[in-house]
Amino acid sequence: MELVPSGRPLAAPSRSRVGERPDFLMKSKIPGLHHVTAIASDPQRNLDFYVGVLGLRFVKRTVNFDDPGSYHFYFGDQRGTPGTILTFFPWPGARRGIRGTGQVEATAFAIPPDSVGYWLEHLKQQLVTAEKTSTRFGGEVIRLLDPDGLLIELIATNSHGKVDLWPDSPVSPEHAVRGFHSVSAALEGYERTARLLTESFGYRLVEESGNRFRFASPDDSAPGRIVDLLCQPDTATGRVAAGSVHHIAFRAKDEAEQLQWREHLVDLGYNVTPVIDRTYFHSIYFREPGGVLFEIATEPPGFTLDEKLEELGTHLRLPQWMESSRSQIENILPPIQVPGK
Ligand code: ZN
Repeated sequence: MELVPSGRPLAAPSRSRVGERPDFLMKSKIPGLHHVTAIASDPQRNLDFYVGVLGLRFVKRTVNFDDPGSYHFYFGDQRGTPGTILTFFPWPGARRGIRGTGQVEATAFAIPPDSVGYWLEHLKQQLVTAEKTSTRFGGEVIRLLDPDGLLIELIATNSHGKVDLWPDSPVSPEHAVRGFHSVSAALEGYERTARLLTESFGYRLVEESGNRFRFASPDDSAPGRIVDLLCQPDTATGRVAAGSVHHIAFRAKDEAEQLQWREHLVDLGYNVTPVIDRTYFHSIYFREPGGVLFEIATEPPGFTLDEKLEELGTHLRLPQWMESSRSQIENILPPIQVPGK
């Protein structure tokens, strides 16, 4: 199982000028998450859950560019707006991960405050393990497990970001999830991660309670602008496999800004990958001080690059450099059926 992102470097690592604090930090901030990527096992079960139960749109059916014999699924709002995108590598037969530090413990979507009752009933009818937990910083929280044991939360809030609801969702627009609310990262110690969020990304500590520290970007129209750090010094290190988050991606507005982020992170001593072409965005990856794999992904070009908005998720899309192997790839991939189609 390939867990370290590789792929096709677009640019050689640039030499940084040690000690020089780029002034772009004064004007560039990270507005929020771009996507969250997790590992699943059975592809059909994954699709049935995220489209059929959570009501997300299947926005892209492609393969893992580092392992083209397996799928890479993208779910999101109608167009896969950055800040709404949950992606999976479904590996049939993958063993389960172990929850612990150095990983994202929970991925939370925003729901309208009046929809808590709807969701509790809906999840019960769908036989999903779910419970309402205690209120967190004023918002009601529903915790549920996906079919691989991935911990998902639905958090009631009025202040969700701007999203583009999918009109054909099995969940009606009044109750539909409104992109990411937050992620909660479990860490042994949180200070160095907090410093990265505040001093570099431009996040602010907005709430704290017990071992939970909430950071938010200043852009309150951005979906997925919150990161909670959970300080868990007594918890063992987790193991990433099925049912765990593999990495989280923050967004950059374009490639120029991404290169500036790269240079800044290298200056701070992080090992950052070269820019990698993920077709729908460009990516750089590095491990944050608490052990979670972070990515910075560009907002453009997005998922309508190779499919019309109304056809998103309908066809198997491959990057140009894999098209010559299309028939072999299609023979290996298990057949899937999108719910409702
Ligand atoms: Zn990613």
